[in-house]
Amino acid sequence: MVEALYKCAKCGKEFKMDLAITREIRCPYCGAKIIYKPRPKVARRIKAI
Ligand SMILES: [Zn+2]
Repeated sequence: MVEALYKCAKCGKEFKMDLAITREIRCPYCGAKIIYKPRPKVARRIKAI
């Protein structure tokens, strides 16, 4: 699963998309194709137990 948070440029709503399934990124609320790329939170480290 490659789920990431995106933000619509038109309505400004944030939504999650799975790029493994979705080829075309669209806003599920207004259907706009202009989407901001998600801000990567790479600083977080997750320990695997
Ligand atoms: Zn939208």
